[in-house]
Amino acid sequence: MNDAIIVGSGPNGLAAAITLARAGLSVRVLEGAQVPGGGCRTEELTLPGFRHDVCSAVHPLAAASPFFAQLDLAALGVTLRTPKIAFAQPLDGGRAAWLAGSVDETAGGLGLDGRAYRRLLEAFVRQAPLIVPDLLAPLRPVPAHPLATARFGLSGLLPVSMVARRFRTDEARALLAGAAAHTMLPLTAPATGAFAMMFMMLAHAVGWPVVEGGTARLVDAMTAELASHGGDVETGRWVRSLADLPRARVVLLDVTPRQFVHLAGDALPARARSSLGRFKYGPGVCKVDWALSGPVPWQASPCREAGTIHIGGTFDEVASGEAEVLAGRHPERPFCLVAQPGVVDPTRAPADRQTLWGYCHVPAGSTVDMSGRIEAQIERFAPGFSDLILARSVRTAADMERYNPNYVGGDINGGAATLLQTVFRPTPRWNPYRTALPGVYLCSSSTPPGGGVHGMCGLGAARAALADL
Ligand SMILES: Cc1cc2nc3c(=O)[nH]c(=O)nc-3n(C[C@H](O)[C@H](O)[C@H](O)COP(=O)(O)OP(=O)(O)OC[C@H]3O[C@@H](n4cnc5c(N)ncnc54)[C@H](O)[C@@H]3O)c2cc1C
Repeated sequence: MNDAIIVGSGPNGLAAAITLARAGLSVRVLEGAQVPGGGCRTEELTLPGFRHDVCSAVHPLAAASPFFAQLDLAALGVTLRTPKIAFAQPLDGGRAAWLAGSVDETAGGLGLDGRAYRRLLEAFVRQAPLIVPDLLAPLRPVPAHPLATARFGLSGLLPVSMVARRFRTDEARALLAGAAAHTMLPLTAPATGAFAMMFMMLAHAVGWPVVEGGTARLVDAMTAELASHGGDVETGRWVRSLADLPRARVVLLDVTPRQFVHLAGDALPARARSSLGRFKYGPGVCKVDWALSGPVPWQASPCREAGTIHIGGTFDEVASGEAEVLAGRHPERPFCLVAQPGVVDPTRAPADRQTLWGYCHVPAGSTVDMSGRIEAQIERFAPGFSDLILARSVRTAADMERYNPNYVGGDINGGAATLLQTVFRPTPRWNPYRTALPGVYLCSSSTPPGGGVHGMCGLGAARAALADL
């Protein structure tokens, strides 16, 4: 009998497994897919020699995560490559907003808004080593650095549409919109200001790196670390019911509430089932990967050096595209997140070739292929882009859920990042990782701190399990 069974080998499942194995427990991870890693896989999706990140590609959260700080990533074969420009956002007329290096450097590129930018971010970036670990922990207990974190939280409670009123230029306002739109919330929603500021703070504090060779290297590192503590991962083993699990002292589930309710069946008390049933999922994504014959010919030169490009034009245009998605429509000009790892990692494609990664938001469960609209948006800011396409791979939101059942309706964050669900995720229990079933814990991104590759949900769940043991 193992001490701990983990269902699911996403970064959170593996972080939980490593934490328990290090504490001396015997650990086994059961993964349904043939390859471990959940949202952290890299595959030749298009042509031989083109290595694409199937899901996550850009890793400010991993770079800032207290969980990953405990691993000797370099010794485990992981090299983070940080582009000079973290992210850029092209505007019509060959202009672009960009965030790079220090607050001063970015403020310098924002002209009239330079001073306002400094005032918004300078103090928070200085205090990032205190604030970030608090934001990556459950927000229910008093944070470790209450003053710094409360100051950040209070400024960020505003919708990003109000934060943007500090700025007069299209560039500064667009930069905020692009950072906030990662949340898949309306840009008028409370706390979208905090998300925008958090992503910008991370960009200044740790950069927006990619993993050399692809995100899967992170999973290779995590499985190696787990093995060094005696744990293992069994792939190709879908768990259909908790009743089918081998006996163990604790069970940690890297799944979302809907799947948990299904797996637990009648064992779960009705009250817990209805509380978990109220958990809200966000919109989906349509993801596209391209094999290109050369680098994207962005009109605005900062975009050529940026690892991530936020495409959607001005603040108002991004806001209206996102509002359409939330109203259940597919925008003609969607907001798109695009990553070009080739700016710092030549290993992703054969010589002189490039990979490009991108997605746009779509209504939950969408079966619409948005590749044409995404390509039109890229072409708008990089004329000639379409001529470079050698091959593409497309996954609609419905395909995303078929690929990984944790992407309910194509939601890549394990549940909507509304203010309420950021604080009370997945349900309003004091310890968010415990469930109504003794010895059974949730450890996925449906628990705090939410979506992203940081392993902190797994770490939190493992600590709860260890405390109970
Ligand atoms: C297109 C896309 C782009 C993204 N971009 C980024 C990015 O750039 N940066 C970033 O930080 N984050 C990004 N993310 C989000 C990130 O990938 C997720 O937040 C993260 O992977 C969540 O980790 P997890 O361990 O909670 O779940 P997952 O990574 O989803 O892993 C869950 C695992 O559990 C397995 N599983 C589920 N049910 C069962 C079952 N019943 N039996 C057995 N196994 C089961 C699944 O197969 C899967 O392997 C992106 C996600 C997507 C889809």
